[in-house]
Amino acid sequence: MPRIVLALNAGSSSLKFSATTVGEEGQSSLLLKGEIEDIGSAPHFVLKNAQGAILAERRWTDSETSMQPLLEEVAVRVREHLTGDELTAIGHRVVHGGPDHMAPERVTPALIASLEKLTPIAPLHIPHNLALIRSMMKLCPDVPQVACFDTAFHRTMPAVARRFALPAVYEAAGVRRYGFHGLSYEYIARKLESIAPHLAKGRVIVAHLGNGASLCALQAGRSLDTTMGFSPLDGLVMGTRCGALDPAIVLYLENQFGLSVDEVRHLLYRESGLLALSGGVANDMRTLLASAEPKAREAVEIFVHVLARQAGGLIASLQGLDGFVFTAGIGEHASEIRAMVCEKLAWLGVKIDPQANLRHADIISTPDSEVEVWVIPTDEDAMIVRHTLAVLGDGRARAL
Ligand code: AMP
Repeated sequence: MPRIVLALNAGSSSLKFSATTVGEEGQSSLLLKGEIEDIGSAPHFVLKNAQGAILAERRWTDSETSMQPLLEEVAVRVREHLTGDELTAIGHRVVHGGPDHMAPERVTPALIASLEKLTPIAPLHIPHNLALIRSMMKLCPDVPQVACFDTAFHRTMPAVARRFALPAVYEAAGVRRYGFHGLSYEYIARKLESIAPHLAKGRVIVAHLGNGASLCALQAGRSLDTTMGFSPLDGLVMGTRCGALDPAIVLYLENQFGLSVDEVRHLLYRESGLLALSGGVANDMRTLLASAEPKAREAVEIFVHVLARQAGGLIASLQGLDGFVFTAGIGEHASEIRAMVCEKLAWLGVKIDPQANLRHADIISTPDSEVEVWVIPTDEDAMIVRHTLAVLGDGRARAL
């Protein structure tokens, strides 16, 4: 019997999903994929087949539309197009696993209770993920669910990379560097084993550059260090998130501007980053690159500057660099950003072939470059499917 796994990847205002069939020998193929965008304003649902043809589409005009009817639409439409086969399992990307969840786990009442206790550590993410898990339990009560934590891949980070210089009592309460985008980094680390085994054993920085963005230092395929920390707010400049910030600024904003905790949170997560630097032109890199506004250009330059500065820190953690991998929306598609980043890393002996870069080739470095530079599309859903089958004890996960 083929297994069909629904992978759910919830963002702050979007839900991406895909259904994959996995055969007896572990051969997998994408059946359906889709997305609900603009949840909270004007939700838009679209379901596509593996070739990208639209199978179903729906818009809601009501900004109050809750998650439940949106998910019902996903569950009903996906089942409608599965042509007789039944869903075997549901896998979730769960952004934060806190200190206690460092591997994928089957969803049980005990796991839900444990994640609920984590809400103060990740107030923006955990309630969102829990609402999704509970809704799917109601809609598909017989289908097992698995939580795949974005923080889990970074469990190999050594204590020196994990600890903040704060009194131990706070660390005991969970205040430490966790790191995120773990499913993406794990996918790239595994992919390198098959396409570039020499790099898989070496020192590599992976740049996951999407709306959220971070860098991970891989040493022999394991996370050694990363730019995101306690929350996905730290590190690089992102679409609307500020990235690394002097913590005194938060105190100053509260004292001098009278901002409440919620207002500061909104400012740092939703009103900062590229959106703020470009003077409101856009949070989206494609729009900024196409804009003639000087502030849009400035935002792009600061994005690259911060990235190169943070990469320098990871290169010191790795004690050198053998490979650099670009992935996610910006990393896979924005050749101009890749060229700007590589120019900043020229001091390391990084050299790229401009034509290969424009073509988005797999390898964009020249043969005499000291560091190999790759462009590898990420696939978090593939990792979710693999982990979900493995947690449910299905041996075919090993072949994925
Ligand atoms: P993601 O979160 O991985 O979907 O990535 C979203 C980011 O990728 C946004 O900033 C997009 O503007 C950016 N992006 C996607 N395609 C392109 C492109 N062709 N050129 C520049 N940026 C792009």
